[in-house]
Amino acid sequence: MSKKVFEEIEVSEIPYPIKRDDFFGNQEVLKQIESSLLSSSLSQTMIISGPPSVGKTSLAYIISSALQCEKGNPFACGECLNCRKIKKGIFPDLRYISLLEDDSGKIKTQITIDQVREEIIRASELPPYEGKKLIFIVEPSDSLNVSSQNALLKLLEEPPSYIQIILIAKETSKLLPTVRSRCPEIKLKEISQNEMFEVAKRIGLKGDLSTAVSASRGRAGVLISDKWKDYIKLKIAIENLLQSGREIKYFDENVANIEILMSYDQILVLDETLFLIKDAIRSRNLTESEERSLLRKYERTIKSMEMIVRNVNASLIYNYIFLGE
Ligand SMILES: [Zn+2]
Repeated sequence: MSKKVFEEIEVSEIPYPIKRDDFFGNQEVLKQIESSLLSSSLSQTMIISGPPSVGKTSLAYIISSALQCEKGNPFACGECLNCRKIKKGIFPDLRYISLLEDDSGKIKTQITIDQVREEIIRASELPPYEGKKLIFIVEPSDSLNVSSQNALLKLLEEPPSYIQIILIAKETSKLLPTVRSRCPEIKLKEISQNEMFEVAKRIGLKGDLSTAVSASRGRAGVLISDKWKDYIKLKIAIENLLQSGREIKYFDENVANIEILMSYDQILVLDETLFLIKDAIRSRNLTESEERSLLRKYERTIKSMEMIVRNVNASLIYNYIFLGE
């Protein structure tokens, strides 16, 4: 698994989330999954959707571990051999399919049909080596292009009994209706402030909890990974950019602070930018021309989100949004 594309955590250091308690927020979703596991009625194909950092990948690993655990009751015990291997990311029957790097080391923008054929379709022909199931987690499944999705249809329609497929998506609209109709969707949402305080306490966060919680905007993954500190920097940077107009001196300085988060998740950063611009538009004392200028920035942010390709640098994007009057 590539380190750069794993959304919630740095995989080399922190063990994979596998137990029920490793999941934060969205507890009603977890309860539904629990009852499906108990009645052995969990769908063999599914989509886990939701905004960045709300726990989609964690949930996929928790479901997978529950299915592979030797004791599974119904969630994973965390202690058996299968659980220990999954925790370390070395369990052969749990395959994480994601974006590959091209020859120059850049992450590709699509999961291609060749990759799907090789890593999923062909791999699915043989039963699991060690586990109870052969599980494929595909993330980001919204990067499966049309032919890749078409190639998956047959497997999604009639998966052998030993197969489990979990598609992770921020945007299910990019998935074909034929794919969506074969995979029940589990939707994760941002969680409430109160729940976020609970998360902060559970992970033993010290100090100014309300600053951390408010910067994380309901996304447990942002709080857990300490990314909220970068979000505070981002917020300050965007506010500076909104105030400093076209003064290039401030521009570079502030974009440098955005760059850190850009490498983590571009869409998340642009989403935050959009939120802050919207917030500025809502403030009462704007002149007409100020409002027009903000609206243009708002539209350009949306356009940037639509056009986004990985590895575009922050300077280019923010030049377009803020300086392209
Ligand atoms: Zn176990």
